[in-house]
Amino acid sequence: MIYATKPAEKRLNVAPLPAAVASPATDSSKASVSQRQGDSIVTAGAVEGGTDTIAASPPAVTAPNAAPALSGGTGSAFPPLLPADITTLKAEGPIVPVAGVALKDLRDSFTEARGGGTRTHEAIDIMAARNTPVLSALSGVLLKFHNSVAGGLTIYASDPSNRYVLMYGHLDSYRPGLKEGDALQRGQIIGFVGSTGDASPNAPHLHLAITRNDNVKEWWKGTPLNPFLVYRSK
Ligand SMILES: [Zn+2]
Repeated sequence: MIYATKPAEKRLNVAPLPAAVASPATDSSKASVSQRQGDSIVTAGAVEGGTDTIAASPPAVTAPNAAPALSGGTGSAFPPLLPADITTLKAEGPIVPVAGVALKDLRDSFTEARGGGTRTHEAIDIMAARNTPVLSALSGVLLKFHNSVAGGLTIYASDPSNRYVLMYGHLDSYRPGLKEGDALQRGQIIGFVGSTGDASPNAPHLHLAITRNDNVKEWWKGTPLNPFLVYRSK
């Protein structure tokens, strides 16, 4: 819920109320990274003792006038998700983005609490040995390399429709030679599983989040959707 969507939310809120005109996404380059941290997983499964978090918490999210928050203030309301979002992503044929991990091994932790109950995971964790190759789930574009306190080394990439952003967190390293703006092919290695950020060193895993974005240049925004639903066969 803290998913760094404040600017988007602002956009949403502010539009109708001239009074609240947002000073354009005030940039506060420093304050961002700390938005998320200390995330403790509550999962069963010995492997997953890990902690983790992540979230796009890039610069410019501090939103000084985040005040006029509408509704319950979850900050994850824009753009709204549609049932078609899951369908669209499924149709794009995403692969499980960790080498050697099968569909049946995925577990849904999207709604689990993180941060001691202060927020929701809004992602899934894929456990794997450190340095297992992380594969691009879809073709698209590598939007951003990001390093945050919580997420550690993270890659943000777009999907083929350019409306969704996939986030691969806690990487041990990026694949050498990759750079922002590169086209990605589904299945290509983009990095390696790790525990950077606030993941437990004893439980390396890939944190995979997907957001409906609609403007992937603003890769830190978007509304989280459940990756598990995208992978669930039916
Ligand atoms: Zn996670």
